[in-house]
Amino acid sequence: MSGERIPVCEPLLAGNELAYVTDAVRSGWISSGGEYLTKFESGFAASCGVRHGIGTTNGTTALHLALAALGVGPGDEVIIPDFTMIACAFAVAYCGAMPVFVDVDPATWTIDPARVAEKVTPRTRAIMPVHIYGHPADMDPLRALASTRRLAVLEDAAEAHGATYRGAPCGSLGDIAAFSFYANKAITTGEGGMVVTDDDRLAEACRSLRNLSFPTGSRVYLHERIGFNYRMSNVQGALGLAQLERLAVLVDARRGHARRYDEAFAGLPLQRPVERPWARNSYWMYGVVVDERAGVSRDDLAARLGAEGIETRQFFQPMHVQPALRGYGADCSGAYPVADRLAARGLYLPSGSGLTEGQQDRVIAAVRRILA
Ligand SMILES: *Cc1c(COP(=O)(O)O)cnc(C)c1O
Repeated sequence: MSGERIPVCEPLLAGNELAYVTDAVRSGWISSGGEYLTKFESGFAASCGVRHGIGTTNGTTALHLALAALGVGPGDEVIIPDFTMIACAFAVAYCGAMPVFVDVDPATWTIDPARVAEKVTPRTRAIMPVHIYGHPADMDPLRALASTRRLAVLEDAAEAHGATYRGAPCGSLGDIAAFSFYANKAITTGEGGMVVTDDDRLAEACRSLRNLSFPTGSRVYLHERIGFNYRMSNVQGALGLAQLERLAVLVDARRGHARRYDEAFAGLPLQRPVERPWARNSYWMYGVVVDERAGVSRDDLAARLGAEGIETRQFFQPMHVQPALRGYGADCSGAYPVADRLAARGLYLPSGSGLTEGQQDRVIAAVRRILA
């Protein structure tokens, strides 16, 4: 092993995090009331160009809360990309609804709009595009289809803090959106998530459902609807506010890493991330897909990088191969060649905002040596 281990991603807590958390602890506001939380919620929503932010315990519960606020329930179907993180499908299942899979675009790795219409049925209630690895999904055709078929659009923006589509921030592109602030995301609260929306009615539904549907006003302890305790704490809000202050810096760092990787890997038998003319990719993770002509498999590349102390992660496994979803009754019978290829050949390289130039040089040298 040459030199220290290079992690795939580590949080960078180099701003006001410690000061704000200390202040929150000193003030005694450590639960779900407090100014850090409300400032983080309104500030993060504003960064997405919408009016409402509802902090949650994590990104998975943010997805569930958004689906519940949309009224998704048993008998409904929700269209999701086949290539995504499992939380998308599980959030649909928590509602008693059925996830329906659509293969992804071979270049952006986001849901293929041309294949969505064929999966719409009378039971379809919503489409959940995922801005995978920070590249926005192609929203215009999805929104056009959603409006003609009267479907809701829920963005899974868990990986897309700071990304834009035709100049508009991810999180403002559908009816409602969910973010994650898990430790490896572009900004973090340790564990945490947020629903953002410009729709007053959906925001009110999220606020109530997040808080066990506690009634407001005089009808104390009489709950009209089954709710959840998905509240974010003020301590998480303090972390989040400090991270939010540095969102642009943290995303720019990742974009800078992507530019360097792109230049260094031109000509290698690797498919690199794209940035469509209509997109600003936040490059949450710099993923590469090892070509068939490379002479090494994805697993060989990962093993050899690992032997040099360079961490990588393989891409997600598609939804249609998930035993839990088959067991739940999801239709896993179709063909999803793009998702299958990504799962077999994709991996991501060290991508965190705190990656140093020296570390990145080591990664680049190793990849070039192995694939040359
Ligand atoms: C991280 C992530 C989630 C879930 O967020 P958690 O905070 O880990 O629950 C959902 N969807 C995508 C695409 C993610 O990357």
